Parts: sequence; structure tokens; C-alpha cells
Amino acid sequence: MLKLKVLKVVNLFDYDAHFKDCIAGIKREGRYRSFANLERITGRFPKAIYRPDNGGEPREVTIWCSNDYLGMGQHPVVVNASREALENSGAGAGGTRNISGTTRYHVELEESLADLHGKEAALVFSSGYVSNEGALGTLGKMLPDCIFFSDALNHASMIHGVRDSKAEKRIFRHNDVEHLEELLKAADPARPKIIAFESVYSMDGDIAPIEEICDLADQYGAMTYIDEVHAVGLYGPRGGGVAEERGLMHRLDIIEGTFGKAYGCMGGFITGKAEVIDTVRSFASSFIFTTSLPPSVLAGARASVEHLKVSDIERQRAWRNARHLKARLDAADLPYMKGDSHIVPLVVGEPNCCREVSNLLMEEHNVYVQPINYPTVPKGTERLRLTATAAHTIEDIDAMADILIHMWETHHGLIRAVA
Ligand SMILES: *Cc1c(COP(=O)(O)O)cnc(C)c1O
Repeated sequence: MLKLKVLKVVNLFDYDAHFKDCIAGIKREGRYRSFANLERITGRFPKAIYRPDNGGEPREVTIWCSNDYLGMGQHPVVVNASREALENSGAGAGGTRNISGTTRYHVELEESLADLHGKEAALVFSSGYVSNEGALGTLGKMLPDCIFFSDALNHASMIHGVRDSKAEKRIFRHNDVEHLEELLKAADPARPKIIAFESVYSMDGDIAPIEEICDLADQYGAMTYIDEVHAVGLYGPRGGGVAEERGLMHRLDIIEGTFGKAYGCMGGFITGKAEVIDTVRSFASSFIFTTSLPPSVLAGARASVEHLKVSDIERQRAWRNARHLKARLDAADLPYMKGDSHIVPLVVGEPNCCREVSNLLMEEHNVYVQPINYPTVPKGTERLRLTATAAHTIEDIDAMADILIHMWETHHGLIRAVA
């Protein structure tokens, strides 16, 4: 009989203790994230069912921080297109585009996106995050000796893409074209360059000086890569984003977006010249080696994109609502960050207070807005990021404004002291 000798070795690495320490660390810093258990119900958004994790009764709450800006996630056109594709083609894609082939759902969606942005080609990824990481990572690798010029407030997915490329990078101060020019001027004119930035910055609610950035790109021979994730669907006469609204789409080499926000679905994409898109398709690991999105998601996304090319009702409602919310907050002099976008960041200015305001909203007013604390935003600027979607009514907005105004009055000392 085989006998195993069990040796007791001391000083082995203690995995359990290590991971407990990792969590204890972020808890100490007040950065531990807990999720609210929310269930959206088709047709009732922005209402959702909240299930408290203390075992309390489920109850209906109003969501005030969703990225489903136009309520497209529950739009019958989108839901029906998804359902039909699910029934026609089943639940999964069955593999990568290479293995399982490309379906008509992929092809039609990519044609729809190229048309949206007036580009030759488009490529769909699993998410907006993956599209940024994959595209920037690949472009930085494929361009010899490339330098990235990256806005200081770029999204994590762009930062990771740039990092993954191992190309050199220069960070310009947020939306600061003078700083960008300084950095461009200092670089070797012959080296390939990519300026990577967003249109709408979702934490501050401000918008990039796209035209000035394109001018600099022309002058210094750089490619432009814009993330229009928070803008596609919502800005521009056909939902093509801020660049469409400003007549600048043709000046951007790559326009990146998501189906996860105003389009109400899931998935990401890039559009641009055929050879650029084909290069990313051929070399991006995060495109090649992952199962593609299923037909139901692709069909829902396409229905949403196509619908918003011709329907303006959702955009008009969302904008009316954003304006109404801002007007109510203005009238009461509440400290929100004023920007040209649809996003209304209401500054609390202290992390515990921010979490407490969010808790009170949920517990006393059945309103859900998650607190946004460091490191997502700088310390001292902790905030609630409010989004008045097309699905909110004027009554919803007035009720929310009344609640916030009352809160800021009753907790005046608490909130103003730190804000
Ligand atoms: C949300 C977001 C992404 C990622 O998009 P997903 O589709 O959610 O992965 C990329 N860029 C910006 C600026 C974002 O806010």
C-alpha cells in the first residue's frame, strides 16, 4: 500500500490572511464597494425593485444614476429585436468570430455603425471597455515607436489600452489644448502619434474641445481617437455623438462607443478607415480570442442604433429633463458641477457624508443614486452623479429636486461645512 508522508512545512504563504488584508485595507480607506440589489422591470424604468441586504422587504425605488439615458433598455423596438434573434438563433454565439463565423447580426450591426459615424468600417467588441483596451493596445503596438497623448481624466479602459501597447505616453491636463500643444511640439515630428480623449467626461459632465484637438492633430501629424461612450445615441441629429453634433466626425480617425449606455444594451465598437479597423480586427487579442456577442444582443443593439438615427423623441425628452433638473438645482443654489452635458454631478465633498446622503436617499426617499468617492474622483470632490433620463417624468424630477433641496437645507451644516 502506498503511504503518503504529510510534512508540515512552516512559513508557507497564508493566502486567506492575505486576501482578508486586501479587503480590510480598502474598508479602512472607506473605498469598499457594496452593490445595491436592484431589479429593473421592463416598462417601469426608472422604477426598479430594491431588495435590501439586511433582509428588509423588497420595495420600489426610483433610479437616478443610470446610464440608460434614453430608456432604450426597455424600448419595445429593442426588446422585440432581441427576442426575435434569441428565438431564431438561440442564446449563445457558439464561439469567436473566427470559429463560429460571422452572422448577419454582426454584419448588419457593423454596417449600421459605419453609417452612423460616416466611416468605412466598424468592429464590434464584447464591451466598450474591451474596445478601448483592444483598439488602443493594438494601434500602439502596430505603429512603430508610437507616442500616445492621453487626457488626464481618460477612462480606465483607455489607460489600460495605452499601457498594454507599451508605447510611450504623455498625459495632458484635462481638456487643456495648450498643454497638449506643448507636449506635441516637444515630440519628434516623424514619430507616429495618437491623441486619445473622450467627448463627454461622465464624472464631471464636461465636454472636450474636439475641434481644437483635431486642429492640433492636423498640425502635428497625429491620429485622433475619441471615446464617445457617453454621447452616442444622445448627441447629434442621428445619435452619432458630440462629433456629429459639431460637424466633426470626418476629422476623427477613430470613433469608439458602447451599446451599454444610451443604446440600453451591451457591447462596444470602433469605427474608422477600413485598413485601420482591419488591423485591429487582425491583431487585437481581446477581439480575436473571445466568444462574440450573441445574436440577441447584436440585434437589440442594432435596433437601438437604427431607431435613434431617425427618432428624436427620446433625445428631446432626456434633454428637457436634464435642463429641468439643472434649472431646479440652480434656483435652489445647490452645488452641482456646471457643464454642457446631460450629466449633473452634485458635489457633497466628503466621502462619509456622500455615502450618508446616498443612504438617506434610499432609506427615507426610495431614491437610488450611488455615491462617487475617491479614487473614481479626487478627494474633496465626492459627489452624486445624477442622470435625468428620457424615462423620468417632470413629476419625478420635481420630486427629486424637492428631496435634494430639503436635504441640503436640513443637513445644511453637515453638507455645506465640507462642500
Ligand atoms: C463606461 C465607459 C466605458 C466602458 O464601456 P462599457 O461598454 O461599459 O464597457 C468606456 N469609456 C468610458 C468613458 C466609459 O464611461
